[in-house]
Amino acid sequence: MINFFNSYSKLPERFFERVSPAKFKNPKLISFNYKLAAELKIDVEGVSEKELALIFSGQKILSGSEPISTAYAAHQFGHFVPQLGDGRAHLLGEVNGFDVQLKGSGQTPFSRNGDGRSGLGPVIREYLVSEAMYHLAVPTTRALSAVTTGENVFRQNVEPGAVFTRIAPSHIRVGTFQYFACHNDFEGLKELLAYSINRHYPNLEAIESLPLRVISFIQSVGDAQAKLISKWMALGFIHGVMNTDNYSVGGFTIDYGPCAFMDEYKEHKVFSSIDRHGRYSYKNQIHIGQWNLLRLADCLLPLIDENKDVAISKVEKIIPTIIEKFDNEYLKSMGSKFGILNIIDSDKTLVNDFLSYIEEEELDFTLAFRNLIDLFNGKTCFYPNISKLESFIQKWRNRVTDVSSLNTINPLLIPRNHQIERAIVQANNGDYKIFNDLKKALQAPYSENSQYSKYVIPPKLDERITETFCGT
Ligand code: AMP
Ligand code: MG
Repeated sequence: MINFFNSYSKLPERFFERVSPAKFKNPKLISFNYKLAAELKIDVEGVSEKELALIFSGQKILSGSEPISTAYAAHQFGHFVPQLGDGRAHLLGEVNGFDVQLKGSGQTPFSRNGDGRSGLGPVIREYLVSEAMYHLAVPTTRALSAVTTGENVFRQNVEPGAVFTRIAPSHIRVGTFQYFACHNDFEGLKELLAYSINRHYPNLEAIESLPLRVISFIQSVGDAQAKLISKWMALGFIHGVMNTDNYSVGGFTIDYGPCAFMDEYKEHKVFSSIDRHGRYSYKNQIHIGQWNLLRLADCLLPLIDENKDVAISKVEKIIPTIIEKFDNEYLKSMGSKFGILNIIDSDKTLVNDFLSYIEEEELDFTLAFRNLIDLFNGKTCFYPNISKLESFIQKWRNRVTDVSSLNTINPLLIPRNHQIERAIVQANNGDYKIFNDLKKALQAPYSENSQYSKYVIPPKLDERITETFCGT
């Protein structure tokens, strides 16, 4: 059914622990992404739901699969933790270049005090949001399946337990590099670098000089992350826990925890209950993206030059350009939302004028952009106190003559928090109707479809979700 390839488990043993998923009483399939399975050439023809539930909860290990939990470290909220690792995840192996990983599948040597389990809520959230991201053209891990375990887990409340299967271009994080760097394991670092380049940036393999390869690798990760974060910003997405273990070197969104899409716009919006100081607020994501990249560069200094000062001076030469890249990609992404394809520095005021206005008027981020075509055509009913927008409109008209393609850039549908919450509450009672409906609706985020118009509407005041939880 799956021809597993296990390149990660062929790396030295200190990169991971070989460990089997937990036994669960009564696994039941609640969702399987047949389309994604077909794309990956996973053949599930004739495989019953019962069998899928057994496989994708780790009860039945397919031949060729070598389950492992990977080792990594991280800066969590700025504090360095030398040993984290997959405390509740099992990598089953790879299929056609993608990792197949179970999440919530039981304890591992990295679990510390955790139970290795996941509640159904976080599984529903990651399923819906990661698939929505994919359909919004944002690089991301994807959802292959969700299975309930038949056991309860104890979090804020008692919840049904569940296992999520995600598909990822890899699970290599900046934190993976930090793990080897903090142990002064330079051989490990070199192996991880070669592995990462092979998987994500194979064009760099031709660079013979190690220092130059390392520098190019840092630049490539920076480019990919700058593009990724600019896409999040353009959609009002807040990751919520951009710790270095949740920052992929492949430049895609990974580890959906307390993430959320904003409804009403706030520059420094935070949802996560644990983000007390707004480190991972909406606007700070660019800055944190840059900071995390510098932590990757720290790790790689010993591979650039034995002399730390020399290595630092070499990295310092490329840092300003990388930092700028994050700012430029952000501006480019925001510009495209207004129909500006050749954005220049002076357009910043236009972007900021509009954002300040929607923040002041507490407008819905997604709909404020979706209605721009109307605004351009003089239909201003979505926009209160329109006089405040006059100077913006003037600047905008000077820069843009054609807004006809904006509805392919500014989506109508995002996975709104209050709808995800409804799906979770219902699923906790054994009913997956909203979950299934949202899954379908979010496959076409740019189209108008009267069947899904209820998902377009922002939450009423009393429906607003103000806080999200990791669920760990
Ligand atoms: P996260 O916030 O999901 O990125 O997780 C941070 C760290 O905590 C990772 O090392 C996870 O594997 C670990 N972790 C999260 N939840 C659990 C859990 N329920 N049991 C064991 N480890 C966990
Ligand atoms: Mg994580």
